[in-house]
Amino acid sequence: MQDDFSGMEELYRDFILDHYRNPRNAGTLEGADATYEDNNPLCGDRIRMDLKLRDGVIEDIKFKGRGCAISQASASLLTEVVKGKTVAEAARIGKEDVLENLGIQISAARLKCALLGLKVLKEALSLAAPDL
Ligand code: ZN
Repeated sequence: MQDDFSGMEELYRDFILDHYRNPRNAGTLEGADATYEDNNPLCGDRIRMDLKLRDGVIEDIKFKGRGCAISQASASLLTEVVKGKTVAEAARIGKEDVLENLGIQISAARLKCALLGLKVLKEALSLAAPDL
């Protein structure tokens, strides 16, 4: 993976870089109940999420993507947060929660990066559980 953090590294918390370099729940799910993919053309970020539900619970989730550290770390963090949660609980996760989880100041220009994962998750949830 390309490393383009020279001089910027101190702006990122270590765990963001860790999520970026070692994304949690990376990959795709065979037999997923819902798959959604979207991108952020401003930055070139792309994220795909696969969800597997059982009895209203997110039994498994995987994501695949490319783009900047904030977009990928945010998606990775989000998969950790929602795995094992009910669909209803996951649906209540808001932008503020995602930004709080990242724990760093996100500039207006990077908001779309930080929130792409949440957008993809919400779309995938509405595909998997359309009556929510
Ligand atoms: Zn980005």
